[in-house]
Amino acid sequence: MEKPVYKRVLLKLSGEALMGGHRSSSIDPEMVNAIAAEIKEVVNLGVSLGVVVGGGNIFRGVEANAKGMDRTSADYMGMLATVINSLALQSAFERIGIDTRVQSAIAMREIAEPFIQRKAMSHLEKRRVMIFAAGTGNPYFTTDTAAVLRAMEIKADVIMKATKVDGVYDKDPVAYSDAVMYKNITYSDVLAQNLKVMDATAISLCRDNHLPILVFNLQKPGNIVRCISGIPIGTLVGD
Ligand code: UDP
Repeated sequence: MEKPVYKRVLLKLSGEALMGGHRSSSIDPEMVNAIAAEIKEVVNLGVSLGVVVGGGNIFRGVEANAKGMDRTSADYMGMLATVINSLALQSAFERIGIDTRVQSAIAMREIAEPFIQRKAMSHLEKRRVMIFAAGTGNPYFTTDTAAVLRAMEIKADVIMKATKVDGVYDKDPVAYSDAVMYKNITYSDVLAQNLKVMDATAISLCRDNHLPILVFNLQKPGNIVRCISGIPIGTLVGD
């Protein structure tokens, strides 16, 4: 069995990650089940796990704002979208026997606990997977920033950022075939080169608190476990 190199991990999934390959609906149950199966392996390795999922498969505040909607209202809608995704993940996790709790940054007591850091820590100690919903609870932020915030609050060793490509490249690997992937890169270089890893707020929060970011490809089955086992895939962003 693989030996984990991290004890506690915060996994950031974009909303789009739940769409799978078909893109015909915002949430593809097959994709959600595949993610759940990988999470189960992680839990079986004894790793403590928090998950933050985005909402971009359903709603993005900035995009709605560009079309004339009030930014604050649009952002709250985006945060509600993350709650929908969080419940989808929780349902898939529980179906395969992963003990899970959802905590929301916006109070919604019928469907989720409120976010309480001490309670989250206690759930994690009991080996429950925590899903943190509703982003930071504030407009003008992203779920990447929420993921960094929660990672620090739960004292995660690393934040694992799931993407559609293998890691961080010097230019868009989809548009340029000669794009080169970095194995390691510093927070400052990511910011200076404006590389699309996470938004600048999230990156600077990581830099200020020395929280490593592991960027990896979620579309290759088994990659979550590979990262946690220290197999060198993806890009490590650090000091
Ligand atoms: N959002 C917000 N505050 C937060 C987190 C998210 O206002 O702390 C809103 C924002 O409108 C964002 C949307 O929720 O566009 C969905 O989140 P995000 O775009 O980060 O999702 P992802 O791209 O990861 O799917």
